[in-house]
Amino acid sequence: MSDKKPLILVSNDDGIFSNGIKALAEVAAEFGDVIIVAPDRQQSAVGHAITIEEPLRSQKLKVTDRFDGISVNGTPADCVKLAHGQLLDRKPDLVLSGINHGSNAGINILYSGTVSAATEGTILGYPSIAVSCTEFGLDADLSGCKEAARRVVKLVLENGLPKGITLNVNAPAGPFKDMSWARMADSRYVEEYEARKDPFGRPYYWLTGKFELLDDGTDADIRLLNEGYATVTPIQYDLTDYDLLRKMADVDFE
Ligand code: MN
Repeated sequence: MSDKKPLILVSNDDGIFSNGIKALAEVAAEFGDVIIVAPDRQQSAVGHAITIEEPLRSQKLKVTDRFDGISVNGTPADCVKLAHGQLLDRKPDLVLSGINHGSNAGINILYSGTVSAATEGTILGYPSIAVSCTEFGLDADLSGCKEAARRVVKLVLENGLPKGITLNVNAPAGPFKDMSWARMADSRYVEEYEARKDPFGRPYYWLTGKFELLDDGTDADIRLLNEGYATVTPIQYDLTDYDLLRKMADVDFE
């Protein structure tokens, strides 16, 4: 057993100077040494994108008086991959992403850069947790989200996580009622675009999609969040539908 404190890598998609990442670093510091590696700008809704046609550059900086960080001109997944491959002196014991300003429940999990930074950590073999606040406001009260993160970090540092599993944590702003395990609610965006004309008369489009909840199951994350709970959803990057795969085993392509 090493007597070294665990090393906790903290990333996000809202950029290295967001309030949310500072809040999550404060929680991480209760458990170990903290290194922040995060995008140098807003990268929300980039999903699991990685940069392949441009050079990545990193910049050491002070995130706060208390926390050192490294900004990267890439996506959340880039940050975790580069931290793993180049930037860290030792391998992290835990990867945290967030606290995102805005919930990552339901279908938002797929679009989320926050969740993808954590998923990348899982792919690389580290226990990884994404944390999001249901409020978008940059000055939202993150005290409940910090408490939810604290409880889940403790659980994961003590017990680890099964291979291939990431924990996706959401919590309301301010205090929460209780914590609950939850599944990803069935939901989608009904995509709508506002069409405008630029000064040269060419059309451009602005996304104005509306969120549609298709699921009121009592174990679904969005319903529980609406009722004031903090939620924890185990998610996996293996997208194979094993049930259907088994059923199709005898079906030929003829
Ligand atoms: Mn974000």
